[in-house]
Amino acid sequence: MPSTSPAAPPITGSTRLAGVIGYPVRYSLSPALHNAAYAAMGIDARYLALPVEPDAVGTAVAALVAFDAMGASVTIPHKEAVIAHLDQVDPVASALRAVNCIAVDGGRTIGYNTDGDGFVRSLRADLRFDPAGRRALVVGAGGAARAIVAALARAGATDVVVLNRSQDRAAEVVAIAGDPARVGSMDDVARADLVVNATPVGMAGVAQDQVPLDVSLLGTQHVVVDIVYHPLQTRLLAGANERGATTANGLGMLLHQAALQIELWTGAAAPVPAMRAALLAAIEH
Ligand code: NAP
Repeated sequence: MPSTSPAAPPITGSTRLAGVIGYPVRYSLSPALHNAAYAAMGIDARYLALPVEPDAVGTAVAALVAFDAMGASVTIPHKEAVIAHLDQVDPVASALRAVNCIAVDGGRTIGYNTDGDGFVRSLRADLRFDPAGRRALVVGAGGAARAIVAALARAGATDVVVLNRSQDRAAEVVAIAGDPARVGSMDDVARADLVVNATPVGMAGVAQDQVPLDVSLLGTQHVVVDIVYHPLQTRLLAGANERGATTANGLGMLLHQAALQIELWTGAAAPVPAMRAALLAAIEH
């Protein structure tokens, strides 16, 4: 099928660098997302997957400054460790103790976390669901769940229930997010408007044949988001669809957290449709 995406401008003497630092990063979808955005925006920049071993995180941050890079995404295992090497960390990332985005501004490095706001933006943009005044239930208490629970609380959800295999970690998430987050139970599923899986349960190669909650608890009143995106349709989403719920997979969060990073680096609105097309093409590949 012929591509309708704009060609990237040629690399010049002033092409800016951006990238993702993590280890490993070779299977990252972020280069496809970001480079498609820069091409659509006419920005003279390239985004690379930059493998950085754990003992080289400080060197990598210094290199971003030395190269006058636009910025960098940060992924596993560096989201917490990178904080010690930054000049400033924004309050959202600081509360989460996790940075997924570094902006380089006049030689200074500033850390952000766009995962939670990216999730909320995907709810609004892709599902027309505004969490303000609504009840949410999130399964999981890892890095992604923390960001999502805190963002739902900031977005005005009136009840954000956290369920997790390890209760102590659920309590930690609630402590980070504050009101209206609370540790709950499966009894809370029926009352929720939004149900989110933020665990790897359902993911290919991890627990693809499992579900994080009993799908018979779901119905037409629910919006169900599984942040797993490999496979695109998990068993949870298939079950929720059968029961008439509105559903979405993890591509929306992935897309919108990247869009927010581009907006932090450039100050311009990210071209979400071009990014979505590039993401789907990269997944099909
Ligand atoms: P993480 O920090 O390792 O946390 C994993 C969470 O899942 C923990 O709460 C853990 O419970 C729970 N868990 C793991 N295996 C489980 C099982 N077999 N049964 C029940 N609970 C289980 O991981 P993460 O970084 O938050 O990522 C979670 C998932 O989200 C991954 O699949 C990741 O690919 C996906 N993700 C998607 C996006 C996106 O943009 N769509 C962004 C980030 C992450 P315990 O606390 O009891 O160990």
